[in-house]
Amino acid sequence: MARRKLIAGNWKMNGSLAALAELDGIAAAARAAPGVDVAIAVPATLIAPAVARVSGIAPAAAREPGLAIGAEDVHPAEKGAHTGCISVGMVKEAGAVFSIVGHSERRADCHETDQQVKAKAEALRRGGLGAILCVGETLDERDAGRAEAVVTGQLAASLPEDAAADWLSIAYEPVWAIGTGRTPTVADVAAMHGAIRARLRALIGQEADAVRILYGGSVTGDNAAELLGAGDVDGALVGGASLTAAKFVPIVEAGAALA
Ligand code: PEP
Repeated sequence: MARRKLIAGNWKMNGSLAALAELDGIAAAARAAPGVDVAIAVPATLIAPAVARVSGIAPAAAREPGLAIGAEDVHPAEKGAHTGCISVGMVKEAGAVFSIVGHSERRADCHETDQQVKAKAEALRRGGLGAILCVGETLDERDAGRAEAVVTGQLAASLPEDAAADWLSIAYEPVWAIGTGRTPTVADVAAMHGAIRARLRALIGQEADAVRILYGGSVTGDNAAELLGAGDVDGALVGGASLTAAKFVPIVEAGAALA
């Protein structure tokens, strides 16, 4: 099945109002690449100004067809006594159209469990937002030959009810490849994406063939074409190289060349 590539950025705890100027070039590249979807997840404080910047209109009404702005995390509850957390409704009001959930940095830093990740994804679905659900093994797990079991286990335990391609993508991000400059071989990426697809089929049947599986971990303009061309790779989740248009646009262009 033909799936549109999704090139998504994750600014993590980086960025500022001044840095939003980088979105101008990224939005222009997205508009020039109608065959791919382009998205950037930004810190919560930057969602509304980012949406305003790429749309040029008020955040509540903003939807830029070329570049989707999203959140990096959400709380599963609608509201309540959760100091410092942000709900789906809040990021939606700010103009976000999707959120990342289950990033390995949150699983590690905030001890997020598969069950919590699942609840977050389900809250996004209820709110009408898209989700990018991250899974990935540590280096110890890979060295022990457990990478596939760990990743497909995370997938099974954190996959939301009603998982469907129109709102959910999976991101395979080996923890040891994030921010390190190291990447798995293309064959290893293809093998893991195939394993994820097979587990998805077992869990949700034919719908699995429409769900996009992104690769994430030290993607750059230099390796994007090779990684995006691997079997069952439907896009990229990009951290460091999404912070500037100069580094991110070549990745968007690599995706567009394969569209
Ligand atoms: C990420 O944070 O999801 C990521 C893949 O980071 P980087 O591209 O910097 O490795």
